[in-house]
Amino acid sequence: MKINNFNQMKILIGTLCLIIALPAISQVNNEEKEKSKNMHQPKYCLFYDNHTMPAIPDVGKNFDVEAFTDRIKDCGVDYLTFHARCNLGMAYYDTKIGIKHPSLKYDLFGQLAEACQRKGIALTAYLNGGISSAEGLQNRDWTTLAFDGREYREPRFTPYVRTMCYNSPYRDHLIEMVEEIATNYPVSGFFIDCLQVFYCVCPICVKEMKERGIDYNNKEEVGKFSEFSALRLAEDIYKAATAINSGLLIYHNNPGYEEQFDFSTYFEVECLPAGAWGYEYLPVLSHYIRTLGDMPVLNMTGRFYDWGDFGGLRPEAAIKSELLYGLANGMRPNVGGHFHPRGDLESAVLDRIEKIYKELQTMEPWYDNAKNITEIAIVFPRKVGAIRGDRKLKSAVRILSELYQQFDVVTTFSDWSKYKVLVIPDDIPFDDEVARRVKAHIAEGKAVISSGSSGLDPEQKKFVLEKEWGVKYIGENSFDPAYFTVSKTFNAGLPDMPLSQYSTGIDLEPLPGTKVEANLIKPYFNRHWDGEYAFYYTPPNKVTEKPALTVNGNVAHFSHRIFSGYADKASVELKRVFSNVLDSYLPNPVFKSDNLPSFARAFVTEQPGRRMVHLLSYVPEMRGNTQMIEEPVKLNDVKISLRIDGKAPKKVYITPSMKPLRYKVENGYINVTVPECNGYSLIVFEN
Ligand SMILES: [Zn+2]
Repeated sequence: MKINNFNQMKILIGTLCLIIALPAISQVNNEEKEKSKNMHQPKYCLFYDNHTMPAIPDVGKNFDVEAFTDRIKDCGVDYLTFHARCNLGMAYYDTKIGIKHPSLKYDLFGQLAEACQRKGIALTAYLNGGISSAEGLQNRDWTTLAFDGREYREPRFTPYVRTMCYNSPYRDHLIEMVEEIATNYPVSGFFIDCLQVFYCVCPICVKEMKERGIDYNNKEEVGKFSEFSALRLAEDIYKAATAINSGLLIYHNNPGYEEQFDFSTYFEVECLPAGAWGYEYLPVLSHYIRTLGDMPVLNMTGRFYDWGDFGGLRPEAAIKSELLYGLANGMRPNVGGHFHPRGDLESAVLDRIEKIYKELQTMEPWYDNAKNITEIAIVFPRKVGAIRGDRKLKSAVRILSELYQQFDVVTTFSDWSKYKVLVIPDDIPFDDEVARRVKAHIAEGKAVISSGSSGLDPEQKKFVLEKEWGVKYIGENSFDPAYFTVSKTFNAGLPDMPLSQYSTGIDLEPLPGTKVEANLIKPYFNRHWDGEYAFYYTPPNKVTEKPALTVNGNVAHFSHRIFSGYADKASVELKRVFSNVLDSYLPNPVFKSDNLPSFARAFVTEQPGRRMVHLLSYVPEMRGNTQMIEEPVKLNDVKISLRIDGKAPKKVYITPSMKPLRYKVENGYINVTVPECNGYSLIVFEN
């Protein structure tokens, strides 16, 4: 894999996290979790990514701590993450053990901490856990020895040129710096960045791997050991910091959320959509992370296009749309930026943030502790690397979003009992736990829609719940390309012609009683080269007996990997046939709309005594190499319907104007027409 920049590296290393087969990290007891209840609850946040070259000659020279803290207070910011020690290894406070930036003449972080405390701004200290260049230069035995024996990463033009070994003396040094900061400054938390998988075969790591019987010549095993070592360090940082102050907000960036659950007190989702993350990342993470519990979750975007981009300021609509997306999904806004190392007050940046935050804050009463109402789960019991990067998962999230469905992405970490429909995309094998949960779900008369090889045992021999699925697994399907035709039951809105699958699939044999609702169509030939011709043009020939879609009671199964197909071609036909099956199982979803376009998004949240519908209408456009949102897309006369669920409305209005909306109750729904949605509308249903 070619890694071009810092952010691709961050994501790729995240996806390399592997299943850990090492002793479980010890559980932190509940008492400590209880104590953390007095911690700050972040609302409107700023995050500074201040990595400052040692050669900068005037760090902090123009920094006016009063002007800066007054200005961010004016923006409505209550929570600030600021560097105590950056990825260059430079400290910005008076440290006895670290390397203070050579041109910084005073205790910048200390002054900031004092001013923040005085002005009621919670300050979290940033330390980079995985990268500390100056400290690595001074102590070469603190850095990783990569699997191929190199100390430097190629190509070298990356902040990751040298990374830190989590088991070297650096480990204790980092913990001591955390203790030094927690002891000497009134901080509200710690953000430990870049605790990523760095394959290290230094003598210290190899010694421990030998003791644990880990094959240090096996890259996968070394990767697992690195993940284990990063998590062990994260847990020890948590213990050291909370021993000094039990009310700290602590998050470790990059390790899995579930893996660090016992030694974090809040979560962040880092996503610069104009950078390597793209616009498909936040939707997946937002639907997943809320299933992990009630910890505060920050939605960190950036004022610029990418990290290290000192001169970038994205349009208001872009930043606002991402923050609104997060707020509609229970995540608090956090805007990332770079602070000018000299301390220049960047008024243009803060003006933009202030304008956005002031507007969002007019709707704060309806965001505060609101919970999403969800009734579908995408079952994806895999590690965080897959959750962050899997294209089929992104595709499933996209399809359900385009259908305005209210759903979560779940692993076995959370309870599934509230969901009416489980969607199991493309290639989710069933272990005992997944099979047990799915079986219990079906036994309650609830529905499952799966596709491809989902539902097979890990050896891919047979369906684990063969009786419930109502089909036998025969093997991989050989049609290339595969076409299909759909029965009358599920062909609403589909053209009457052979349709393409755009993916691979499996052959199924229906058991007695199972309905075949779509059939595969064989092409005249498979795509191939016969020595004379490239068989590129391979039209559909005959409809076969092979099922493309089976329905056995509450279980529907697509033979082909329709979510992969949608990821490749965004085939509206594939989405439509899925939607027709979903409608049969969920005829009365909590939210419906007659005329909302598929690019818009709708979310339903709830607080005591009221429900809210959030409509978003922002469309990222591909411009050159970057996806961009410059303006919202205005919608008029949007007809929406919210299921009553026994909560007859007393009034319906749009916030923040409080303008009442006329509504009509019909067939179990409250029907409302929203006159105009200029990017975002928040409609409140008081009951
Ligand atoms: Zn090492």
